[in-house]
Amino acid sequence: MVLRLKEVMPKLIGPAQASFIPGRLSTDNIVIVQEAVHSMRRKKGRKGWMLLKLDLEKAYDRVKWDFLEDTLRVAGLPDSWIRWTMQCVSGPSMSLLWNGEKTEAFTPSRGLRQGDPLSPYLFVMCLERLCHLIEMSVDCKEWKPISLSRGGPKLSHICFADDLILFAEASVAQVQVIRKVLERFCVASGQKVSLEKSKIFFSDNVHRDLAKLISDASGIQSTRELGKYLGMPILHKRINKDTYGEILERMSSRLAGWKGRFLSFAGRLTLTKSVIASLPVHSMSTILLPKSTIDKIDRVSRSFLWGSNPQKRKQHLVAWKRVCLPKREGGLGIRSSLAMNKALLAKVGWRILQDKTSLWARVLRSKYKVGDVHDKSWLKAKTTWSSTWKSIGTGLQEVVSLGLSWVIGDGRDIRFWVDKWLLDKPLLELVTGPLPVGYEERRVCDLWRRGTGWEFSQILPYVSENLKLRFTAVVLDEVTGAKDRLSWAGNADGNFTVKSAYVLLTRDSSPKQSMERFFDHIWRVMAPERVRCFLWLAANQVIMTNMERARRHLSDTGLCSVCRSGEETIIHVLRDCPAMAGVWRRIVPPRRLQSFFAKSLLEWFFTNLCEEAAGDGCSWSTLFAVAVWWAWKWRCGDIFGGMSRFRDRVRFIKDLAQEVFIANKAVIGESRTAVREVRLIAWKPPSAGWTKINTDGASRGNPGLATAGGLLRDEGGNWICGFALNIGICSAPMAELWGVYYGLYIAWEKGITRVELEVDSEIVVGFLTTGISENHPLSFLVRLCYGFLSRDWIVRVSHVYREANRLADGLANYAFTLSLGFHFLDGSPPIVSSLLFDDMNGSAYPRNVRV
Ligand SMILES: [Zn+2]
Repeated sequence: MVLRLKEVMPKLIGPAQASFIPGRLSTDNIVIVQEAVHSMRRKKGRKGWMLLKLDLEKAYDRVKWDFLEDTLRVAGLPDSWIRWTMQCVSGPSMSLLWNGEKTEAFTPSRGLRQGDPLSPYLFVMCLERLCHLIEMSVDCKEWKPISLSRGGPKLSHICFADDLILFAEASVAQVQVIRKVLERFCVASGQKVSLEKSKIFFSDNVHRDLAKLISDASGIQSTRELGKYLGMPILHKRINKDTYGEILERMSSRLAGWKGRFLSFAGRLTLTKSVIASLPVHSMSTILLPKSTIDKIDRVSRSFLWGSNPQKRKQHLVAWKRVCLPKREGGLGIRSSLAMNKALLAKVGWRILQDKTSLWARVLRSKYKVGDVHDKSWLKAKTTWSSTWKSIGTGLQEVVSLGLSWVIGDGRDIRFWVDKWLLDKPLLELVTGPLPVGYEERRVCDLWRRGTGWEFSQILPYVSENLKLRFTAVVLDEVTGAKDRLSWAGNADGNFTVKSAYVLLTRDSSPKQSMERFFDHIWRVMAPERVRCFLWLAANQVIMTNMERARRHLSDTGLCSVCRSGEETIIHVLRDCPAMAGVWRRIVPPRRLQSFFAKSLLEWFFTNLCEEAAGDGCSWSTLFAVAVWWAWKWRCGDIFGGMSRFRDRVRFIKDLAQEVFIANKAVIGESRTAVREVRLIAWKPPSAGWTKINTDGASRGNPGLATAGGLLRDEGGNWICGFALNIGICSAPMAELWGVYYGLYIAWEKGITRVELEVDSEIVVGFLTTGISENHPLSFLVRLCYGFLSRDWIVRVSHVYREANRLADGLANYAFTLSLGFHFLDGSPPIVSSLLFDDMNGSAYPRNVRV
């Protein structure tokens, strides 16, 4: 029921309510309130404004059931649905335990149950009745809403669940109007406004005497400090380090609750990540935190990670910048707060570029004159900007602009040379000579001629022949009327995500020695997390050996305290110290012994962690990792005493490694239980009265030189007609889609009305059957295919294995030998005739299939 209700919620609930409705976020409301307060503090002129922050008393408990039922009816939900809902709400009759005895059952007549997944939705629907009353009052000009900018949207109310904020012109008469509306709602619904807990805030130009009159008439206290809204401090003045001090306090207290020194490094790592990930995200979503706050967030996490506490400061063994790198680049994957803050703000920025209709977007668009993406003049910071908008501006300029690209539609918005659309960089960066004056402003549609395609005479003088092959793979949409649209280059599907924005922002483009495979092996080794963390620390050479302590002047000797015969370096503890070397000699196969002891630390780690060959019931990498970990534990034990009772260390390590291995295998095994079997796959002719189209695409390099091919066959498997297409350069899915496009094209031209279309790419079948986002780089081509699918014929699209699509694949390969462009094939080319013959005879090929 909740799922079904969720689907219809956006249609039932007006734009002022943002909670529990898919696609609406609390940040939307926070932005509106921050902007309203910002405008109110600068308000001049005769008319004043007021903002009422209302508190509903025990909102859920007070909902009257007859009101709820009426609400559901007004919303137009079916009778059966209403009956179920009311049963859910009022069903359980209650009885109380009174002095230990059960009282007689009684049936209450109001209240929604807390914790019931349905309740929030029902509550929001009830509150929507209030919104309607307010809108009616606004419509008949009784209630006078405010507008933050000339021509901007009128604001009278916004709500998030039971958080209610009202706006109106400041006058006693308006307070009477508001009271009247609220009373009507409260009587009907059972809700009650708590006057004591509610607050009024006036704009700067409201005289103190008027404010007092209004406050008295409403019974609500006026305030200069609104406190918090949806967990965010409402900004009244400039932000400073105290504004968000609370975030830090909460973080510190959450982490302090865990006694850091009793946790392993791995445990502290997990906790640090989870606290950073959860606490500040909400605040960071609408405001750029002051640098001092960001620095402190990082400092708190840093200290906790390395085990410091107020009593004792611990060494931070690896630089914070390195810790913040992704694991595969040698870091621990802890997120840098500044980059995260900007990535979160970029989300609001991205949404405002896409959204022209939501209330919050209209407020911002009108107040700050948000204009064309190309003309960035509206993004020039002004002193009159609110902190919220300044922050969103940062997200737009520093993040969104990096990842902005375009999907081609009618070509009217995209600047041909300057924007990113064909490649992952603007064409301007690839031109072979200077462009004539004025060329920068040319749009894509200026270089396209209807019916014939690209105007190569005007393009080719400035780009390489190779680039021409890129152009031949894309077309301007002359058919469906689609406009050019923005796409997010940080994700392959063109949709914005905070994660991809963070990656884009922190990407290290400086050339460096790639250690990716090395660290990949450390984090992938089948061993407990604390062992992997130890390997990471050791690889970063920050294990506190005696040599390291001596280097840091913490001790005056670097000698090994176990054997007292060598300098205690990391490799000495883990491998070369006589006691440990003896253990290794009994574990390592004799033929590998010599090279085993000859390698440097990193080489030694790398080769041994790569080694998967099994030995003694587990993989070598696991055995190795466990042994390395215990080498360090034993060493510490010998120094600090107490751990010498391991008679047979070799047996001990082998047993332990085996246990670890089996436990890990069991976990992985459960998620990989798919049964596979070999099946025979063959092409099947279409059902009687149908025509079958098989198409395929090929790309040598993805993106690389690309082709497509396809054909139509009848019930007997006979060739009707086919095609081969030499596309130019593009990705594999794009080549597949071109295959589909031309397959449908020739079938339609033949006047065929019932078609079975088979493709061997699951992605493409997904695009055609479940759809594609408008921001997706391939959406221009999918739209063109839809253009065919939606015509007056029946097309069934399905996925087949490659083995059943061999002829189309053969035609695509054949196209590599042909000239650029489309080639219609009346009869089967000799090069594929044996495949045609095989299919006709039902030849099948084995394939290992997941069942
Ligand atoms: Zn030693």
